[in-house]
Amino acid sequence: MTALPLIFDAPRRGKPPRHLADLTRDEARSAVAELGQPAFRADQLARHYYRGVTDPEQMTDLPAAARETLTEALLPGLLTVVRHQTADDGRTRKTLWRLHDGALVESVLMRYPERATVCISSQAGCGMACPFCATGQQGLTRNLSAAEIIGQAVAAAAAMADGELDGGPGRLSNVVFMGMGEPLANYPRVRKTLDALLTPAPHGLGLSQRSVTVSTVGLVPAIRRLTEEGRNVTLAVSLHAPDDELRDTLVPINTRWKVGEVIDAADAYARKTGRRYSIEYALIRDVNDQPFRADLLGRLLAGKLAHVNLIPLNPTPGSKWDASPLPAQREFVARLRAAGVPTTVRDTRGQDIDGACGQLAAADSVDLGVPSVAVPTPSVEPPVELGAEADG
Ligand code: SAH
Repeated sequence: MTALPLIFDAPRRGKPPRHLADLTRDEARSAVAELGQPAFRADQLARHYYRGVTDPEQMTDLPAAARETLTEALLPGLLTVVRHQTADDGRTRKTLWRLHDGALVESVLMRYPERATVCISSQAGCGMACPFCATGQQGLTRNLSAAEIIGQAVAAAAAMADGELDGGPGRLSNVVFMGMGEPLANYPRVRKTLDALLTPAPHGLGLSQRSVTVSTVGLVPAIRRLTEEGRNVTLAVSLHAPDDELRDTLVPINTRWKVGEVIDAADAYARKTGRRYSIEYALIRDVNDQPFRADLLGRLLAGKLAHVNLIPLNPTPGSKWDASPLPAQREFVARLRAAGVPTTVRDTRGQDIDGACGQLAAADSVDLGVPSVAVPTPSVEPPVELGAEADG
C-alpha cells in the first residue's frame, strides 16, 4: 500500500445554497425580516426544520403565502437520499447522501435497546490518510457546511420519530462524529454543528453534551481549541498504537503530533470538562495487538480519566490487514484491565453493508450513475493554523 500525503487544506468548491442551519438565531431573524416576514417566523421555521419538516404544506402555523417563500429561501434541500441500506435486523441503517455538487457522504443510524445513535460525516472523504480506513484511502473531496452536517442528524432524528427503524417510533439520543472525515479539520462547521445539536428547540436538537462524541485522529491545536470553548462533549481519540514508531505508520498525523502530545491535550480536555475521554484502538492482527503493546498502552493511560474502546478491525477493500483473533483480543483486554484501565470492545454494527467504522467510502457511486467527485491534488505543506479557514 502506498502512503498517501496528509491533506489539511480542503479544496474550495461552490458553496451550498444558504440554509437556516448555517445561521445564528439573530442572522435567521434578519434573513426572515429581509423576506418581508416578522422575525419570529424564524423560530417557527427552525422548529419545523429540527423536527424534520420541510414540506411547506405541513407548516400550518405559517400563513400560506409565506410558507413557500421562507422554505425556498431558507430550507433548500441540501442532502438527497441516494439510497438506504439496512442491516442487523433493521436496527442499523446506512444512508448514502448526494450533496448539491454531486459529492457523496454517508451516515449510519443505529438503534440499541436504550439509545439510538447516528454516526455522521463532517467531510466528503478525508485527508488524514490512515491506511486501514476506507475513507482515509479515498482522499479529501471537501469540507461539509454546518447545514450539511446538521442535516444528517436532523434526518436521523426524524427517522427515529417516524419509526423508520425496526422497533417503532423512538428518539435520537446520541450523535457521534465517526463517519467520513476528520471533524477537527473542519473545525468552524463542526463547532456550529455542536451548537445545533446541543441547543434546545426550536433552534436545535436539544441533545445532552455527554451524548455527543467528537472523534479525532489527534489534531492537537484543535483539541486545545475545543477545550477552551466549553462545549463539554465527549472526546474520542483514535490512537491505534501506544508508541510513536508504529503510530507514525497507522495514523500518519502522528508524524506531526506525537502520542505524548495527543494524550496531554486529551488530559487537559478531561480536566476542563470533568469528562472521561475515550481512546479508540482498532485491533489489527500482528500489527498492534501484541501483549507488550497492551502493556505499553496500560502504562500510558493508567490513572488517567480515560477509557479504551477496542474495535476489531473491519475489513476494507485492498487492505492487507485482518482483525485480531479472539484470543489475542481477550489477552489485550485482560492486560489493559489489569493495568486499571477501563476497557470495552465495540459492538460492530453494519459490517455487511460496509457501514462499520472505517468502511464508509461511498465507493459504489459509479454503479449508481452518480457523478463521482474528483479527488484534489493534495497539498503537502499544512497551513499553520488548522480549521482557521473563514466560516461560511
Ligand atoms: N477521523 C476521525 C473520525 C472518523 S473514524 C477519527 O479518526 O477519529 C471513526 C473511528 O473508526 C476511528 O477511530 C477510526 O480510526 C476507526 N476506523 C477506521 N477504519 C477502521 C477499520 N477498518 N476498522 C475499525 N476501525 C476503523
